[in-house]
Amino acid sequence: MNKPTPRRDCPSLARPMRTGDGLMLRLTPIAPMPAAAWAELADVAEGLGNGLIDLTLRGAVQVRGLRDETVAAAQARLLEVGFVESRPVLATDPLGPDDPHAMGDSHALAARLADLLTTQPLPPGLPPKVTVALDAAGRLDQLTADLRLRWVGVDRLWLIVGDRVVDESRADSGPALVRDYLERMARAGCRGVDFHSSIALPLSVTPAQARVQNAKHLAPRNWTPACAGVTVEGGGAVATEAHFVSAPLPLGPITPDIHLLVPAFGALTCAQLQELLATPGLTALRPAAGRRLAVWGSQGAGCFPPFLATDDADPRLAVSACPGAPSCGSALRPTRALATALAEGNYGVLHLSGCGKGCGAPGDGTAQAIATADGWDLQGDDVSRLAAGLAAMGERRNDAL
Ligand code: SF4
Repeated sequence: MNKPTPRRDCPSLARPMRTGDGLMLRLTPIAPMPAAAWAELADVAEGLGNGLIDLTLRGAVQVRGLRDETVAAAQARLLEVGFVESRPVLATDPLGPDDPHAMGDSHALAARLADLLTTQPLPPGLPPKVTVALDAAGRLDQLTADLRLRWVGVDRLWLIVGDRVVDESRADSGPALVRDYLERMARAGCRGVDFHSSIALPLSVTPAQARVQNAKHLAPRNWTPACAGVTVEGGGAVATEAHFVSAPLPLGPITPDIHLLVPAFGALTCAQLQELLATPGLTALRPAAGRRLAVWGSQGAGCFPPFLATDDADPRLAVSACPGAPSCGSALRPTRALATALAEGNYGVLHLSGCGKGCGAPGDGTAQAIATADGWDLQGDDVSRLAAGLAAMGERRNDAL
């Protein structure tokens, strides 16, 4: 087994992270995975972990509560059914070629990039947590990424670092272009935003120099995600305005065969995952940004289990909570029953943490209650509604003692 990764690093399939409830593996599929693979993941979570499965804000799935003596078996079984190590993280738009706005196949291109990074490994030095977003439909503009490969036409891609377009290519050349920039990041030992200031420097590698010369015609050009109204051409085809709009997908049916759902708290028990997999017609799943699940198969909207939100207006979407007690050994209080009650009482957007580690806390000023031995510490830009909710539930707020 690989040594557990420190908390400042990024967990992955090959790099378990030690958390308050044991070891955790994070998987980032680049395309839908068949139902059989998810059934195996549920079995792994149940038999080798503590049965808890998280979906993350950045579109990964986490298996929690593994132990030193079980994690290697879990890794082997997940690899066997097709989950792969992803470093750097490759984030793809959720639906790939099935997206009605797709201008290309980001899933296939991500697979080619992953293959290229396997056959031509990067030199050491790439910082942890580097993410490459591959987006053929304008679904990932809200996701922070070090490099962004964004389709702007059929067979026309922009490479974006930070907020600047630095290069462009046809789809076939995209993986090599991204790998080249990743190699330069690795040699510089810095991430996308820091790398930004050095990208115009001359390079020692001739093909890369050629690309930078090319990039001078493009950069500096500020990247503005909301590009409605821009019409771009590529490969002889024309992408329409509608194609180029930055548009996160809504919950619910996207096509007759694809639904986007969110489990309460962005988390599933293995039993809940098994119940979802038993939905008639379900063929494949993938996690998506915002703790979502994209579900393939010809289901009707009403056939999903009730623990899944199928509508952006669902009040449960306002609250999030870590597993808390008794699921997590570090937790000082239960969290999710209280979070459910706060959602039902409409006490605003909030997060509950079972201890000060703050696993999964949004970190963006959202009102947060952190369990302590005596009550709850409150943090956030505006905690008034959360404080009112805790008072209504008979919970103690520490600074109000
Ligand atoms: S924040 Fe929650 S999940 Fe994380 S260690 Fe604390 S109690 Fe456990």
